[in-house]
Amino acid sequence: MNHIPQYLALTREYLFPAGCAICGTMLLEAEEAWYGLCHTCRPRFEIEAVKRCVSCGRPLISEQERCIPCREGEGFSFDGAFVLYPYTGAYRKLLKAYKFGKSHPLGNFLAQKMIDALTAFAPFPESGLDDCAGFGWVPVPPRPGKIRQTGWDQIDYLAGRLSRLYRAPVCRCLKRLPSKSQKELNRESRKTNLRGRIISAQKPPVRVLLFDDVITTGSTLDACAAALKAAGAETVYALCLFYD
Ligand SMILES: [Zn+2]
Ligand SMILES: [Zn+2]
Repeated sequence: MNHIPQYLALTREYLFPAGCAICGTMLLEAEEAWYGLCHTCRPRFEIEAVKRCVSCGRPLISEQERCIPCREGEGFSFDGAFVLYPYTGAYRKLLKAYKFGKSHPLGNFLAQKMIDALTAFAPFPESGLDDCAGFGWVPVPPRPGKIRQTGWDQIDYLAGRLSRLYRAPVCRCLKRLPSKSQKELNRESRKTNLRGRIISAQKPPVRVLLFDDVITTGSTLDACAAALKAAGAETVYALCLFYD
C-alpha cells in the first residue's frame, strides 16, 4: 500500500487530535491515524466466522439455511447478501462516530472491512466477482434533502474507498423519490413505502455490488435491487456493514 496517505492522516491527527473512536486513546502511529482506531481496539472488529442466512446474510442461530424473518418473508430481489456486524455496543459506537463525527479515517476502516469480508468469506460464490468485468459498486441513495441537511453522505465516502480497494467503478445510478423515513414505519409499511420510490436513472452495471450501512428489514436493499434489475442489471449482491 502507498503509505503517504497514512502519514498525512498522522499529521492531521497530530494537528487536530481526534483519538481512537472507541477508547479515546491518542493515535501515535500512521496506521492508527489512517483507520481512526488504536492497535488495541482494531482487533475487536474482526468479522465473526459463523454460518449466515443465505437470503439476508445475518449470522444464523439455528442449523437452517435461512433466518426466521427470511423464512416467513416473500424473499428479496437481490441474489445474496452479507452483513458484517450487529448494530450493538462497540459496533454501534463505531457507526455513530463515523456518521455523526464525519470521520474519514473510520470510513477507511469500514471500507477495508467490507473488502476483507469479500476476500475472506467469499460470500457470493456464484457471482464471479474475482474478475471485475462488468461489475460495479452501487451505493444505496440517500433520501432527498438528507445531504443538504447534514452536508455529508457517509455512504458516498465509502463508495470512493471501496472503488479504490476493489477496482471497479462506482455507479450512482439509483435515485430516491420523496417518501416517508423508513425509521418511522413498521415492517409491512416499510415495504410498501418504497414501492416505486427508488429508480435507476441510468443504465446500471451488469453485475452489481450494492451497499449500505445498516440493514433492518432489508426493504431498502430489496427496492434498490428491484430497480436495478428492472433497468437491466443481471445480478445484484448486497453488502451491508451492520444489521439491526
Ligand atoms: Zn482504542
Ligand atoms: Zn435472513
